[in-house]
Amino acid sequence: MIPYRLIAKKRDGGELTAGEIEQMIAAYLGGSFTDEQMAAFLMAACIRGLSTAETVALTRVMTASGETWDLSAIPGPKIDKHSTGGVGDKVSLILAPWVAACGVVVPMMSGRGLGHTGGTLDKLAAIPGFDTSLSKRQAISALKKTGVVMLAATKDIAPADQRMYALRDATGTVESIPLITASILSKKLAAGADGYVFDVKYGSGAFLPEIKRARKLAESLVETAHKSCKKATAVITAMDQPTGYAAGNACEVREAIQCLKTRGPHDLYQITRTLAIEMLLLSAQFRSRKKAGERLERAIDDGSALSKLRAMIRAQGGDTRVVDDPDGLPRARFKFPVVAPQTGYIQRIDTRRVGWALVELGVGRKKSDDEIDLAAGLVLPKKIGYRVKKGETIGVVMGQLRGKLPSVAKEIAASLTIGARKVKPLKLIHSRYDGRRWESL
Ligand code: URA
Repeated sequence: MIPYRLIAKKRDGGELTAGEIEQMIAAYLGGSFTDEQMAAFLMAACIRGLSTAETVALTRVMTASGETWDLSAIPGPKIDKHSTGGVGDKVSLILAPWVAACGVVVPMMSGRGLGHTGGTLDKLAAIPGFDTSLSKRQAISALKKTGVVMLAATKDIAPADQRMYALRDATGTVESIPLITASILSKKLAAGADGYVFDVKYGSGAFLPEIKRARKLAESLVETAHKSCKKATAVITAMDQPTGYAAGNACEVREAIQCLKTRGPHDLYQITRTLAIEMLLLSAQFRSRKKAGERLERAIDDGSALSKLRAMIRAQGGDTRVVDDPDGLPRARFKFPVVAPQTGYIQRIDTRRVGWALVELGVGRKKSDDEIDLAAGLVLPKKIGYRVKKGETIGVVMGQLRGKLPSVAKEIAASLTIGARKVKPLKLIHSRYDGRRWESL
């Protein structure tokens, strides 16, 4: 393989064979295809695109670049969920134990916050003692015991992705649908689930705000998963406002626990329930959406979903007392009100701006080695369509950086567009794709 020729082939719009992709990644990991050459290839792929066959081949080779897990010794269907992320997206914390309580094994591989979006691993870090860095042996043992595990991709999972992602981050090549697909799927496939539900967000706080791009990513993820012999469905959900009321690590864990007890904020519950139904359907243990929904409701009513959360926290070394007494979670020393700047209806929320404002408080990171403040966050119960009055307290920001709270509160208030026109509440669930057709939900 001559690196120059392979890069030039993609640069000129050619299609690489599976063999060429395999050789390229092997040479990259072996050191004979340099970082500079990989950066050039990634830029060519970003501009020219990759065919489905190329995306499937790249995903397969990236998956095989590290450890792969065989979960066949664990009885029952194993289904994972992936979200493209957003602000206040604590869905995984509720969904994983809830679905596991309905008899589906959930090996959930999660990530840290990225840019303005939060990450499940950072939220789990708010639970004292909770260990997300389990080895393959520990994860399989926890899955056998409790049927659910939430963990980080170790350095042994898809190492090719770890190096390529860092390069993409530094070279403006993150926003490529085939490269995103291969990156997400290589980590997911390595963990060995039988099927995946993809929650692809669109809207002002989403990684890909435009619905057209979100749908393209959904199609790419589902089709590549199918061609990799896995079951998969995608649901497009709204990220035009923070999901639920809380956005921040400890405060989101608090809200997730509350949701498992009393169903919580409407938008959070509806989005989580929709994705949970898709996971149950993919498991093939439930015939209809109605039956899956009824089973899920029962798991909240009889407390089994909450018990499953407790069991997962215990199995991963965490302090289960936080489930009954969320005061055991990190608490902010300082709070500051968010005040409505005018009277009217909330028309729009610039959710990306809210996310970046929260990064200023330490909810997320500007650089990958930044420390985060687990207690920092926002509680904003006002949603699109709600009426607010000028000067009314509509939310609260909190954290340890007292000096930053007033400017962050102001920035969040400025992220709201308020006007006299009445607006409908946001449509939360846009559509669903199963590899054959799109369906409105
Ligand atoms: N998340 C990933 O894991 N990879 C991407 O490329 C984008 C988001």
